[in-house]
Amino acid sequence: MEIALIGIGKIAIDQHVPAIQNSPDWNLSATVSRHGTVAGVPAFHDFAQMLEERPDIRVVSLCLPPVPRFDYAAAAIRAGRHVMLEKPPGATLSECHALKAMAQAHRVSLYATWHSRQADKVLAAKAWLAEKALQKLTINWREDVRQWHPGQDWVFEAGGLGVFDPGINALSILTEILPEPVHLTGAQLHFPANREAPIAAECSFHHPRGAEVSMNLDWLEPGAPTWTIQAETDQGIMILENGGDKLTIDGEIDESVSDLTGEYPRLYAQMASLVQRGGIDMDLSPMRHVADAFTLGKRITVEPFEW
Ligand code: NAP
Repeated sequence: MEIALIGIGKIAIDQHVPAIQNSPDWNLSATVSRHGTVAGVPAFHDFAQMLEERPDIRVVSLCLPPVPRFDYAAAAIRAGRHVMLEKPPGATLSECHALKAMAQAHRVSLYATWHSRQADKVLAAKAWLAEKALQKLTINWREDVRQWHPGQDWVFEAGGLGVFDPGINALSILTEILPEPVHLTGAQLHFPANREAPIAAECSFHHPRGAEVSMNLDWLEPGAPTWTIQAETDQGIMILENGGDKLTIDGEIDESVSDLTGEYPRLYAQMASLVQRGGIDMDLSPMRHVADAFTLGKRITVEPFEW
């Protein structure tokens, strides 16, 4: 299938381009970006022009930041294209509901991707937790924003989510692996005095059977990132590390190997299957927790942040 990639920036170059070019399902037939291009691929600056001039391209993958993404997604759906959305699928929940309704009306596929759910050990963690009684779960998601989003001011603008940009990855895993849903009960959000989005956060959640569930996010962690979820149960302790790539159960590392490796190759395989069967995959549960954190969270002003 022919696919166009929109918003040629960090994640498009790091992950989407290699995943598409190495996939048996896809041909990267066009890019749309104001500045970025991909060698050997026809480049457009204007999205409407690409949609008009390339009716052969039935699928578009949107790698823009969340705030500008809605207009692109809506235009693509109106033009009858299937749409794949980077995470988070929009700037607000209402936007995402609107896109879903539009996709249903236009009978096109819509995929809200959550790349961290495709990490190697997420399904193994889910299977292990399925039969256990959870007692305590702690998320620690700490990284250096200067390393992972160098100079990307949008992450600190309203709608950019701040530290919840990586934090929503943890929440996408949480909402996948827990057999019973939790909901947020409180949060503390640390806003740099000169920014519109938090740089750190602590959140607590209600669990239907009383387990203690919490999340700590920090964007000023120097050195290697910590992307860990630890779950204590009546039958042992599970530690999911490296953003879902490493699983240790009671001190023993899970060495199982899966056939298709890499989060983005799996996302593109799923998009191919979604388009073929004509489906919509729009799970908004990770984003709901983030919206709740912004609604309930107590705001603490901290030192200004400069790159
Ligand atoms: P980015 O490099 O800052 O932005 C991607 C591209 O979007 C830019 O190069 C820009 O291309 C275009 N763009 C930016 N603002 C725009 C606007 N207002 N209107 C139209 N186009 C605009 O961001 P990124 O790091 O790739 O992240 C993009 C999305 O991927 C985010 O939702 C992020 O959460 C997600 N993501 C990022 C990472 C990561 O490690 N960075 C990892 C996983 C997922 P032009 O200037 O050429 O138009």
